Amino acid sequence: MSKFKNSCFIPSNILREIDFMLIRSGVNPSKYIKIVIKGRTLNAGIINFPMKKVICITQEWIDMLQNNPNNNLVWNAFSGTIYHELGHQKDYMPNGLLHKILITICNFFGICLRNYHSNQLQFLYWVWEAHADFYSCEHAFKGDRCMSRKTMLFKLDERKKRLKSIEDTYDHPSWMRRISYIEKFNFDEQLITKIAMDVSYPVSYVEVQNIILHYETYFD
Ligand SMILES: [Zn+2]
Repeated sequence: MSKFKNSCFIPSNILREIDFMLIRSGVNPSKYIKIVIKGRTLNAGIINFPMKKVICITQEWIDMLQNNPNNNLVWNAFSGTIYHELGHQKDYMPNGLLHKILITICNFFGICLRNYHSNQLQFLYWVWEAHADFYSCEHAFKGDRCMSRKTMLFKLDERKKRLKSIEDTYDHPSWMRRISYIEKFNFDEQLITKIAMDVSYPVSYVEVQNIILHYETYFD
């Protein structure tokens, strides 16, 4: 049985909202196919195929939005989620193509490949995630950190309700860490150094500067 449902399962009000976010992110909505995937978490993702990009949204998100049509927190959390994914589209991993390929492979195979790499990769993953959170805050909430915090806490609570793990993973800092990054830091040297400490990665001054430069160059 297919994991994917047809995009017509995305109600028109939600589709409209997604298209609006795509336009505001400077991309053409028709370049994106929107599909619903199964899943009991409030997740979304974007897959880049050569010709098209595919936005996947879990059925759980669709149900949540349909059941709470007038709940601003729910809809803001949804915006935050989609903009986070769009943030990943804007940036790519520092340190060039090899790392990008490694990261892509690790995305697919996760645990199997983890032990073969140092925690540098984990560090880059976490920076990547934090950066997408800052992008999301800027674009979904005009830089309102309080709103980011509220929506992140909402998603954390929803994970707890579903008895899902709320711990750090190799490729994502925990929600609590992500909340503290967005609350206490800007996306700058201090945050990058903090993330390196959090994953016990001995980052060098030059590497921190390169990462900052990288995101400044590829992120508007
Ligand atoms: Zn992410």
